Amino acid sequence: MRSKSRWARRSACPPTQGPSVSNYTPKSPPRIFLPLSKLEACCLCRKTWRETELRWCQLCAEVVYCSSECQQRDWPIHKRQYCGKSKTDRVDIESYWPFLAVLVAQFKEDTNFNSHPALTHPIINSPNPFHPYHPILNPSGTVSTENIPSASSGVPTDPSSTNPSGKYPISFTDGIRAKPIVLGEKLTSFIQTDTWWPTAITTAVRNKLQRRIANEGLLLVTYLSVCLSLLSSMYTTTAIPDDEDEDETLQQTGRRRIRLTYGNSPISDFGIVNGSVHVEDTDRLGYIFSKDSPDGKEKKGEYRLGQDPDDHYRFYFQTLSGSEWYLDLGKYALNSCVLVQAQEYCTGNWGRFKRYDGDVSGMFYGKEYEKEGGLDNFKLRRRFSILRNPRAHDIVQWNDQDADIANIMTLIQEIKGGEECTSWERETMLDFLPDAVELVHLNVAHRDYLNFPKKPKIAVDLDPDEQSLVEYTGKAKENVFKMTGQWQKRHRKGKSPKNPLEAAFRNSFK
Ligand SMILES: [Zn+2]
Ligand SMILES: [Zn+2]
Repeated sequence: MRSKSRWARRSACPPTQGPSVSNYTPKSPPRIFLPLSKLEACCLCRKTWRETELRWCQLCAEVVYCSSECQQRDWPIHKRQYCGKSKTDRVDIESYWPFLAVLVAQFKEDTNFNSHPALTHPIINSPNPFHPYHPILNPSGTVSTENIPSASSGVPTDPSSTNPSGKYPISFTDGIRAKPIVLGEKLTSFIQTDTWWPTAITTAVRNKLQRRIANEGLLLVTYLSVCLSLLSSMYTTTAIPDDEDEDETLQQTGRRRIRLTYGNSPISDFGIVNGSVHVEDTDRLGYIFSKDSPDGKEKKGEYRLGQDPDDHYRFYFQTLSGSEWYLDLGKYALNSCVLVQAQEYCTGNWGRFKRYDGDVSGMFYGKEYEKEGGLDNFKLRRRFSILRNPRAHDIVQWNDQDADIANIMTLIQEIKGGEECTSWERETMLDFLPDAVELVHLNVAHRDYLNFPKKPKIAVDLDPDEQSLVEYTGKAKENVFKMTGQWQKRHRKGKSPKNPLEAAFRNSFK
């Protein structure tokens, strides 16, 4: 396992001082500098938000004032301590999230290609999608209903007793139904895609399923690694005020502070939320082993469910003005295939990391989708701050490897609502975290984020054999049809798309 040596290297050489940037070793560990958490009181006269309207300093967003008088009076001191021209780079999360999506894709896909059973065993049944369906140009559909699975169709209750075709979802366990994927004998060498799934109806269908599987799981560990990397690279010593007695070389980015924002408002908190997302049975995957494996790990007739939509994770970002937005990098596995173009985010300093020129999965639920946010019926269960978490602050000091690992395991357990961190989570976390920290640090130290496009380019991966929208039920179906219906109307009237997702849907049908 390579993780131990990499972790040791990382600990000996704190990430804010990565060897590719500087050989400087700090005398003291990096300190955390948190952004404002709320609009509480004018930093000069202490008037509170109850008494008056408060505004944050437009340059740094680190302090608030009640009036321009207070701001002017405070300026000589404020300027010296925090602020002034080019002392803060404000990075809009809307222009930054695709970079995080590439980071997560890189890790997830690599890990899953090497370890996911459905990518290391061939598929011997035919879990092909249904007939062509076109949610914009043909929303009512000419789909023959006999092919649409109903709740009771094709239902062997015990996956081990049958060899399901893959056409219909079957019942696995506790009433959970999913599309069955039957796996053959494990292969020792790399599987060519056509031998991996010989009965795929088209190459596009095969590639899509492979990518869905490569995107499964690992949500919590990838998200946590990303959050810790942001904390480590953006909210540490770069914010030491001029008048503090600290070694200047501590500040890799030219004593510049970096702060995430959304639109005009600074991000005051970020972290991870857990909840459920609505998914149809045919969009869930279940894996059935048809052979005993030589190492005894898998037994004939055993099954595992794929990514669980009821244990779903997203990033949350809270703004100082009080709104909350979400980033979801885990829905491709559940067949919700919104993508973002990766190329422009891979142009700067990427060190030894893989650059992408295609699309990676991810969706940022910002203002533009506020009204359409009901689309996937996300039900939030738990919210867990990383930016303001003392344990997370400890970790990014990178002081003590054993204590850091213990802290990470506790964090994972807390985010999971008390359930213990598994050895697989620990291993993948320790494997990914140093890489994530290094890559975010490279980006921050070289200010590559300045070259990111303001608006990401969104795409939708709907292959022509997909029909799953037809089986949507209840509220989710209503939302999907309302939205795509409105899009279709706008399309007929020759109006331009009103947001990137609508544009992406249109493009995918050209
Ligand atoms: Zn004031
Ligand atoms: Zn300021």
